[in-house]
Amino acid sequence: MHNNNNDLTLGAPLSGPVLPLRNVPDPVFATGAMGDGIAIDPLNDTLHAPCAGQVIQVARTGHAVTLRADNGAEVLLHLGLDTVELKGKGFELLVQEGQRVSAGQPLLRFDLDYVAQHCRSLISLLILTNSEGFEQRPLSLGAVKIGEPLLHITRRSQAPASSSSAPGSAEQASARVRVAHRGGLHARPAALVRQCAAGFASQSQLSFKDKSAPCTSLVALMGLGIGEQDEVLVSCQGADCQAALQALLKTLGTALESDAHPTPAVVAPSIRRPAEDGVLHGVCAAPGLIAGPLLRLEAMQLPEDLGQHQPHEQRQALEKALEQVRADIHQTLDQARRRHNQEEQDIFNAHLALLEDPTLLDAAHAAIAQGRAATHAWSAAIAEQCQVLQGLDNSLLAERANDLRDLQQRVLRALLGTTWHYDLPPGALVAADELTPSDLLQLSAQGVAGLCLAAGGATSHVAILARGKGLPCLVALGQEVLHLDSGRQVVLDADGGRLELAPDPQRLQQVQEAHRARLQRRALQQQQATEPALTRDGLVIEVAANVASSDEARDAHLGGADGIGLLRTEFLFVDRQHAPDQAEQRQAYQDVLDTMGDKPVIIRTIDVGGDKQLDYLPLPAEANPVLGLRGIRLAQARPELLDQQLRALLQVAPLERCRIMLPMVTEVAELLHIRQRLDALARELGIAQRPELGVMIEVPAAALMAEQLAEHADFLSIGTNDLSQYTLAMDRDHAGLAARVDALHPALLRLIAQTCAGARRHGRWVGVCGALASDPLATPVLIGLGISELSVSPPQVGELKDRVRQLDAGQCRHLSQTLLDLPGAAAVRQACAEHWPL
Ligand code: PEP
Ligand code: MG
Repeated sequence: MHNNNNDLTLGAPLSGPVLPLRNVPDPVFATGAMGDGIAIDPLNDTLHAPCAGQVIQVARTGHAVTLRADNGAEVLLHLGLDTVELKGKGFELLVQEGQRVSAGQPLLRFDLDYVAQHCRSLISLLILTNSEGFEQRPLSLGAVKIGEPLLHITRRSQAPASSSSAPGSAEQASARVRVAHRGGLHARPAALVRQCAAGFASQSQLSFKDKSAPCTSLVALMGLGIGEQDEVLVSCQGADCQAALQALLKTLGTALESDAHPTPAVVAPSIRRPAEDGVLHGVCAAPGLIAGPLLRLEAMQLPEDLGQHQPHEQRQALEKALEQVRADIHQTLDQARRRHNQEEQDIFNAHLALLEDPTLLDAAHAAIAQGRAATHAWSAAIAEQCQVLQGLDNSLLAERANDLRDLQQRVLRALLGTTWHYDLPPGALVAADELTPSDLLQLSAQGVAGLCLAAGGATSHVAILARGKGLPCLVALGQEVLHLDSGRQVVLDADGGRLELAPDPQRLQQVQEAHRARLQRRALQQQQATEPALTRDGLVIEVAANVASSDEARDAHLGGADGIGLLRTEFLFVDRQHAPDQAEQRQAYQDVLDTMGDKPVIIRTIDVGGDKQLDYLPLPAEANPVLGLRGIRLAQARPELLDQQLRALLQVAPLERCRIMLPMVTEVAELLHIRQRLDALARELGIAQRPELGVMIEVPAAALMAEQLAEHADFLSIGTNDLSQYTLAMDRDHAGLAARVDALHPALLRLIAQTCAGARRHGRWVGVCGALASDPLATPVLIGLGISELSVSPPQVGELKDRVRQLDAGQCRHLSQTLLDLPGAAAVRQACAEHWPL
């Protein structure tokens, strides 16, 4: 829908799970006293403007900004709860009062770790402070990324009479009062003042220094800049002015209950929640609603060590275990890198560094030298360091102790081989003090259904991973959760921040049924995943998978993929000292072909250069790496490397199933050159057959030249990740632009349409292998524009096939044309959600 003077779609100012206001663990926000709105539990560190407008207020302490949108809506963006207490520490304002900002512009940056550790909760609010004049409709209650449509607001045609209308009486009363609220008259106390004033017919205002503000305006009240213990003048005018004055004096002179307590380092919102029998309150770290048996997780106990071990054997065992853990972490890192999951990469890079820490290794080796078992030596070395970190009384460093414990467990697990694991009943909800990131990965692999943690914060590493895995998770439930009996049935309502300890059978049934319905749908999708995907009107869409190893290809094959739409061959080349030789390459490609049965496999030639550098392949330093020697341009810089890869590819069997694809092509000559090389190399090797050769469309030039490329290519596959980057001139890895690098931008859709039209003229098919193919919202548009293959992340094959089967290709064709004229990606997303709801 187009925005006009009355309608406005607010984009998400932060990335993270969305909560309705009533679930915010703060009575002032939750009751709507400050106005209606929505909350986000942020995963990123910069707050962005949800719409264009003027900055009308910034908090002195940098934790909140208010914008006035062009339709008059006043939008307060408040980062975290009780963050005024931080007195500006951890916040950096990027805008000033009076400044005009555009939608998506960064407004303030904050230190995620510091703020998370020092405030009550990171849950952040988007509040319409003049919400009485607007109707609101949330557009997402799942997880959002910056800039994605969050809230639709429409100005009411007949705004309710504002309280600034004539008071009807000239009676006046005024008095001075010292403001008792910690941090002064910041957003929450100001909201209480407004709420209090609204209960009277009188008009009231506060005056401080040389400024005054009506109590009806939250923004004006905050704009007075009143600090704690500042004296203000309260004036009321109207028939009930005395009563209004007394009430306001009381509101201003009494600190909020939550202000009276110093902020605890670890979030424990249950203290402020109304007590509810049989319910523990916590903070939602990953959303979801699930019922199941509770399982209390005990820490691993090692048997007593009798000593007298052979040091060299134990040293070897430890070395082997460390090596295995390193390899596992590298694998996790590779996967994270491919998924562009920076958070996961940061976590596990830190783990790799800890694993090489000389203090730890020296301590373990010293204990081994004295005859201790490797298990106990390692365990003790870690325990000692944990104690040191925790003794420093620094919560950030204490969190690193959790990472050390993680490595303790991982290495012990490797040392003990397969003899140790968590024994989980199916669908268990695990209760633990804290979990480590690798515990979580293991529990998730074993089918845990949810997590209930006594400690932890919503921004802990575990929370981030739980969100990624779709596992409902509550943190900060308090120690009580550790005293519950294993086996009791509980309901984990992570969205509502509640762990229901004694749900009645009806409640259990209701939650289980909802969950079963979700699972059934997923199971049905899985069951039908190996079947071809046909639209309702009979168009076949191939749903293939993007993989980067034969292991992932196995998952894809089992998951029903119709083929491999993109094998990123970089996996063979990175994280090693020497390039793989021809034989190793041939074997790796052959493995993927064998894994896929009789299905086609598209193998992309190496796409390094740019920001993907190889130690053994020094390329000139680049001023603009993503615009430099990368992708197929390597043929120009290091032709022998590409020749070697082509030789390996020519030797796989059967060649009909192997399709070669070239990255970053910008002109026909690049394609023709590789065709000639393939011919020459095949002749050298005595091979008569030629594999199909396709090009990636990931540079605008290639999309615009699709017709000319299609004349010489066997197929085209659109890389929407790079195509977005180069079309929109936005770095695809730029955190602040993440939500705007959206491949559903109409400019991209036009390029996709042009690519399909060009290919059609030569009877070639077009696929999409960029991330847009995995976005079910985009499926109808892509089909409508003429795409016949989608290459998606392996776990999503079933879901995407199901999506295809719901669609009518004719209708997709018709409607997708209308999207090309929309003004931006947000409008396209909204239109897609309306035309083809998920
Ligand atoms: C793309 O750019 O969309 C693509 C699939 O390639 P990569 O993500 O590997 O650059
Ligand atoms: Mg690319």
